[in-house]
Order: sequence, then structure tokens, then C-alpha cells
Amino acid sequence: MSHAARLAELIARACRAVVFTGAGMSTESGIPDFRSPGGVWSRMKPIHFSEFVASEAARREAWRRVFANESGWVGAKPNAGHFAVARLAAEGKVSAVITQNVDNLHIESGMPEERVIELHGNAGYATCLACGLRHELADLRQGFLGRDEIPSCRECGGLVKTATISFGQSMPGGAMRRAEAETRAADLFIVLGSSLVVYPAAAFPRLAKEHGARLAIVNREPTPLDPEADLVVHAEIGPILAAAVPA
Ligand code: ZN
Repeated sequence: MSHAARLAELIARACRAVVFTGAGMSTESGIPDFRSPGGVWSRMKPIHFSEFVASEAARREAWRRVFANESGWVGAKPNAGHFAVARLAAEGKVSAVITQNVDNLHIESGMPEERVIELHGNAGYATCLACGLRHELADLRQGFLGRDEIPSCRECGGLVKTATISFGQSMPGGAMRRAEAETRAADLFIVLGSSLVVYPAAAFPRLAKEHGARLAIVNREPTPLDPEADLVVHAEIGPILAAAVPA
């Protein structure tokens, strides 16, 4: 039986699947993996959260990178993998997507926003660090590029930062709790494009297994959890998912 057929069979037997996506999902949409050799962080030093808060120069540099699209996600489009996951959610098969990606592509592919749990936030908008008010990048762009205004909150004057989780910033508690609850309730846990090396990525598939879920892993490289999985596929995500979940 082909990998796609075996994945389709696992999905058919599941009532409540959870999908976990990492950088490999986004690289298939042309977004560079910032941790890989040649990735963004090998060319540019990441700006830690404490620097962003303490230094105007760091904030200026952070915003320069945002509007210069240094991370490469502006204009990227969802791929066949994103659309297949969205179809499974529409069928009621997938209860949630837990993602480490900040590129908004799951929501763009048609996943309902409330079913996408973003562990590392979302780079598509900004929030005030003081009051939490959402700010759209389009509203901040002109002030920054035209008048060199470093974004600040229109309500309270607080510091405004893209809604991503920076190095040195703690993981969002609400998202982590929701991700854990969904993982515990899942009867099938599907990993797409994560090497499962770094916490918390590695913890979720283990938690799912402990609670009786089957585990499927689709990733180009082997992962440390491959021996515990019910299905392991070392290949690109889009073609496998498109074949397992036909439109
Ligand atoms: Zn504010």
C-alpha cells in the first residue's frame, strides 16, 4: 500500500485528528526555514525580546526587517498540504491545527481562525505590548517608511511589535493550554514538516501517544519520534496530502 493510502486509512479510522505543522510546511510555499543553513538567522542576528523592549535602535532594525520582508513570507501562498488540511477541517475530521509557523497560511487556505493554534504567533499583524490592541501592518508601514516613526500604540502609546513570539519571549500560555487539550483529546496526531527536535514540538506527539492517539509523521528528514509512529513518510508534504485527501 502506498504512503498516501496508508495515511488515508489512518484518517478514515480517526474521529478527531490534530495536525501539527512546522517549518517544512512553509518551505513548500517558498518560505525559507530561518533555522536552516543559509536561512535568515545565519545571515542576520535575531533580535531578542529584551533588546526590542530596551533599545530604540533594536526596534528600528526589527521594523526595518518586517517591511523589507526579510523573512520572505509576504506574498507566499498556501500549498497543496495547507489546502488538504483545510478540507479535513471542513469535513469535521481535524479539530485543530497546532503550528509553529507565523505566516498565516493555514488561515489563508481556509482553516477557521479559531481552529488554528499559533505557538509562535503571527507575523501578519502587530500588537501593543502594553494593552494588547491589534494594529495592522498596512497602517504602520507608511509612518515607518515615510516618516521614520517607530510604531507605537494609537490607544496607549505602548510599544508595538509584530504578533510573533521573539527569542527570549515566553510561549503564549493560552495557545499552549489549548494545544495540550486538543492533543490529549486527539485519536490521530499528524505531524507535517517538523523535525520534532526542539521543545515544545517534541512534547506534543508524545502526549498524543500517551493518550492513545495514533501518530503519523510526514517530514523530509527522519525525526527522533519516528520509531514511535504508526506511519512515517520521508517526503514532501503537498503531494502525499493531496493524494491522501483528494479535493
Ligand atoms: Zn496599547
